[in-house]
Amino acid sequence: MKKILNFINGEYIESVQGLFLDNYEPATGIVYSQIADSDSADIEVAVQAASVAFTLWSKTSPEERCAIMLRIADGIERRLEEFALAETIDQGKPLWLSKVMDIPRAVQNFRFFATEIVHFSTSAHTDSGSLNYTKRSPIGVVGCISPWNLPLYLFTWKIAPALAAGNCVIAKPSELTPITASMLGEVCREAGLPSGVLNIVHGLGNKVGAALVEHPAVKAISFTGGTSTGAAIAQSAAPKFKKLSLELGGKNPNIVFADCNFEEAVVQSARAAFTNQGEICLCGSRIFIESSIYESFKKRFLEEVSKFTVGDPLDTKTKQGAIVAKVHFDKVMSYIELAKEEGGSILCGGKPFVPEGRCEKGWFIEPTVIEGLSYDCRTNQEEIFGPVVTLTPFDTEEEVLMMANSTKYGLASVVWTENVRKAHRVAEQLQAGIVWINCWLVRDLRTPFGGVKDSGVGREGGVEALRFFTEAKNVCIKY
Ligand code: NDP
Repeated sequence: MKKILNFINGEYIESVQGLFLDNYEPATGIVYSQIADSDSADIEVAVQAASVAFTLWSKTSPEERCAIMLRIADGIERRLEEFALAETIDQGKPLWLSKVMDIPRAVQNFRFFATEIVHFSTSAHTDSGSLNYTKRSPIGVVGCISPWNLPLYLFTWKIAPALAAGNCVIAKPSELTPITASMLGEVCREAGLPSGVLNIVHGLGNKVGAALVEHPAVKAISFTGGTSTGAAIAQSAAPKFKKLSLELGGKNPNIVFADCNFEEAVVQSARAAFTNQGEICLCGSRIFIESSIYESFKKRFLEEVSKFTVGDPLDTKTKQGAIVAKVHFDKVMSYIELAKEEGGSILCGGKPFVPEGRCEKGWFIEPTVIEGLSYDCRTNQEEIFGPVVTLTPFDTEEEVLMMANSTKYGLASVVWTENVRKAHRVAEQLQAGIVWINCWLVRDLRTPFGGVKDSGVGREGGVEALRFFTEAKNVCIKY
């Protein structure tokens, strides 16, 4: 059986203890590989390698780093088909989605930050008699921890700016989806990334992930994952005064006003609900519809949802693949049961889906649409992170803003209206780090990305990411 090893100091090696964890294919429910089950001893080895590498990497010019990172992007792109297949087998998402979204975005992440670093500039301030200039230097050894929903996409979203800024990285992918992260090591080696600059350590979050956060030589942590894990990481990192970037959970509102472009709102709301099995932190899982179009929207939306055919992720006809793990499958199903207990009516789905053939033991859930719930019930307040959405009518702008802002989260939000004044007014009042008007998941990598309230601390993307991964020093000269 294939063994996924740690990538430390440019070499693939077993964990110090020689232990392994099973890695499942979600579409079949079968163990198909084993991954290194690492702990603090492996973090120690990685920290040693990264610290040595930092003395040279931190002194390379932005142009040298750019050239290597562009070769990494090319290397992933050359193997796009292979990466996409590996991602789909490991995560359960449709193969076509891996090909058009996950892997191209990983390529783009490296290209974007490779070129951004050569344009990165600092500020200078003058007054009568003094000049201040700000120098930005790499931090040192940094930790990047990423989740399972968009494995290589989010892994590289953190690693690329960290490397571009001149840091050495110890990265931990989710134990549920380690394979493409592991393949990235090969690409980095071929592209000429010096040994020890990027180290990839596999294993359990509460074991090796926690050890990475706790290590005193790791000066910053960039984390994407659940809100409760983020809180645990903050608790461990704060007394050591580490720099922290936390991208956490969401329960995003999708607001449909009666004056929207109806067809576009229906089609894109379905996409925002069920893309990647609803396992995207940005998915619009609470759909609020102005009462005058509620029934017509519901009818057309259900027609659109019926096109989300569930099945084998390798089948080109499949629109929705498998749920990443049995434990997550059980969690999503428990929320559907909770929704029924809370008085919700299931308009479609609500059940596991059992495909015929090779996927009969996989973890699939039908796209599920629920109505009749109060905005403040648990189903509408807690993150489900699966193919489940609720429909809720509203009468006024004030009412929908109150309901939209009622959760502890504040990551993304979506608004559908053709009235430009209303669009700006509502955007202003939504408690969210990201507002999409008449679109969803349109991404410009230069923009700040992140959430407010329990959805996180700090911003990723563009210049924000380079600022996070550098330390500022102001130099003042009196003349
Ligand atoms: P988790 O918080 O469970 O895990 C995220 C990562 O952290 C994994 O690599 C995990 O390892 C690791 N980890 C777990 N516990 C610790 C710990 N104590 N110390 C250090 N690392 C730890 O999230 P999921 O993987 O379940 O991802 C889903 C969540 O991620 C959802 O809440 C979603 O909203 C959020 N998310 C947020 C995004 C954003 O940009 N705001 C984007 C995408 C997802 P292991 O897998 O081994 O447990």
